[in-house]
Amino acid sequence: LTAYLNGRYAPLGELSVSVLDRGFLFGDGVYEVIPVYSRHPFRLEEHLKRLSGSLAAIGLADPHTPAQWAGLVAGLIERQPFDDQSVYLQVTRGPAYPRNQAFPEPPQPTVFAFADPLPAPPAALVEHGVAAISQPDVRWGRCNVKAISLLANVLARQASVDAGAAETILFRDGLLTEGAASNIFVVAGGRIVTPAPSTRMLTGITYDVVIELARLHGLPLQIREVHEDEVRGADEIWLTSSSKEILAIVTLDGTAVGNGVPGPIYRQMHHHYQQFKVGRMRP
Ligand code: PMP
Repeated sequence: LTAYLNGRYAPLGELSVSVLDRGFLFGDGVYEVIPVYSRHPFRLEEHLKRLSGSLAAIGLADPHTPAQWAGLVAGLIERQPFDDQSVYLQVTRGPAYPRNQAFPEPPQPTVFAFADPLPAPPAALVEHGVAAISQPDVRWGRCNVKAISLLANVLARQASVDAGAAETILFRDGLLTEGAASNIFVVAGGRIVTPAPSTRMLTGITYDVVIELARLHGLPLQIREVHEDEVRGADEIWLTSSSKEILAIVTLDGTAVGNGVPGPIYRQMHHHYQQFKVGRMRP
């Protein structure tokens, strides 16, 4: 695997950063994950826009223009031996000494990127759905920033692994926020319902695509607060993310969601998403 660090491409195993890097010491940085299909980055502009928004939110000057970012990503993609990829980009506030929470002036940001093979979600998961558990959302108040400090997400996601489930759905003050690593949609009363973007969740690129597709295909959609009991009583629950696309959640905390199988609206949306993806694979 060829990766990228601060201006050069090299084998992933040969790259390292300083132990004084603020990403390592403080989790002081932001990241992006961009799916690539047939060597075409999917929604690249939107991902780069979210990255620059995350950088602005942490007060770190963007080290690259959008064109430079696009060039960096293209350079990484062409160096991989596989066509479908997951491109990871990370920018930290770089190494600084002595250790001090306050920003170094000027910062020397660390820019790191690598690409993994991106297998399509297994057909069995699409066909049969996945299990989820739930937990209180104990994260900080700026979940809209795609920050690398992910300890609360890590613990929430591991809880689902320990429970043999695929995701942990988070609730704050009786309201749905999102999953540990995904956004959540429900189908209730024949409508697709999902929370509006806020500081309580990351606005997923996949979330935006699903909303766009619902509108395009005239599926009833409400973007509003979603109460925990609506989720528990929903006919369908879906999770969305760049790597998992759209998966139906068929059990929540051990209880069947709807009929316990992926629902009809899920099947429609999954089909629309696949069509949309294929349409975007060609330049
Ligand atoms: N919320 C969280 C907390 C995430 O980590 C992610 C990405 N894995 C998402 C939502 C989904 O975002 P996207 O659709 O851009 O992958």
